[in-house]
Order: sequence, then structure tokens, then C-alpha cells
Amino acid sequence: MAALTPGAPLTVGFDLDMTLLDTRPGIKATYDAIAAETGVWIDSALIVTRLGPPLEAELVNWFPEERVDEVADRYRELYVHIAVPACVPLPGAREAVAAVRGHGGRVVVVTGKHGPNARLHLDHVGIAVDALIGSVWAQQKGDALRGEGASVYVGDHLGDITGARAADALAVAVATGPYGVRALREAGADAVLPDLTAFPDWLAGHLASAPSPVG
Ligand SMILES: [Mg+2]
Repeated sequence: MAALTPGAPLTVGFDLDMTLLDTRPGIKATYDAIAAETGVWIDSALIVTRLGPPLEAELVNWFPEERVDEVADRYRELYVHIAVPACVPLPGAREAVAAVRGHGGRVVVVTGKHGPNARLHLDHVGIAVDALIGSVWAQQKGDALRGEGASVYVGDHLGDITGARAADALAVAVATGPYGVRALREAGADAVLPDLTAFPDWLAGHLASAPSPVG
């Protein structure tokens, strides 16, 4: 388990989809628009039960590989108008971010989503962050977290636990995405919360048990 470095500033990373934001209705509608434009049947209801991996990793289930880049570009265009306005913060998201700041910490968002669209989401809901890194997944999230000096990463997917591990950060899992509490525990998360409403208390307890987290 990672420990906070005495004197180092607290930096907490958050995943975006199904950790900070409920993006399911907008993502489903964007896939439905892609299906209507291309004439290709896409099970958008299934897709939104397994959000986390990059867009291209989902599109290969529905399109031949040679079309994936073109469809991904179109999806990202439509996404701005369809999915961004439809997103809402998940319960406790604003308070979780505020809790980090209340302890003098930095907030970074590390997400598999296309960075510019992730930025539009955050602007839409009015959640300010200190850094945003998009288009990273699993081990790559670890590189991003390490680069930002994050000692905690909060996410809803098993890939987020992998990312935290790769950065030697604490993996805090929230059961607001595809996985329940038991599955997240079995996957080795350091802490498992039902949702972000429990995060401020968890953070306070974590910091109380760690040496001088804020320089
Ligand atoms: Mg997620």
C-alpha cells in the first residue's frame, strides 16, 4: 500500500465516467446517433453497462477495424452536442473534489475519454480541476498519475485499480460503475466505497493516519 510522502503536496486523481459523472444517457444517445447514421446495429444499452475502456476498444465490437478511426472521429464530434449537455455529477462528486481542496490538495482527472470532451464535461457541470489527462487507460493511467504525483486514485473500474497500482497510489474504488463492492474488493482495491458521498470521511481518516500530507 502506498504511503503519503511527508512534505509532499496531496494530489488525488479521479476517473471521470461513472466516478465523477453519470455519462450513461448521453453516451447511449451518441451511440444511437452513430447507429442511425451508419445503419450498423449497436447495442447501446449494453455498452453503457461496461464504460471505462477507450472508445476504440468498444467500436471494434461493432465495426470492422478499418472503419474504427473514422467512426471514432464522428462519435467525438456528435458527443460534444449530445453527450456533454446530458451529463450530471454523481452523488458526492462535488463534495469529494471540495474535500481534497479543503485539505490543501490538488485534484487531477485521469480518464480514458478524449481529453477535449472530458474538459467540456467538467466545464458543463462546473467542476474545476488542477490537471486533466485524457485518452489513457489502465497502465497508462499509472504513468499519468505518477507524472502528477498522485498518491490516491479514485475510480469505478478494474482498469482504474490497475492504473493506481502502476503509480503506486492508493486504489480507492467506488461501486457506481460496472462493478459492485465485492468485485472491487476482490480485485484488490485498497478501499471500496458505495459512492463518492463516503469519500470525504475516507480521506479525512486516511490523512489522519498518514504523516503530514500537505507541505
Ligand atoms: Mg469510469
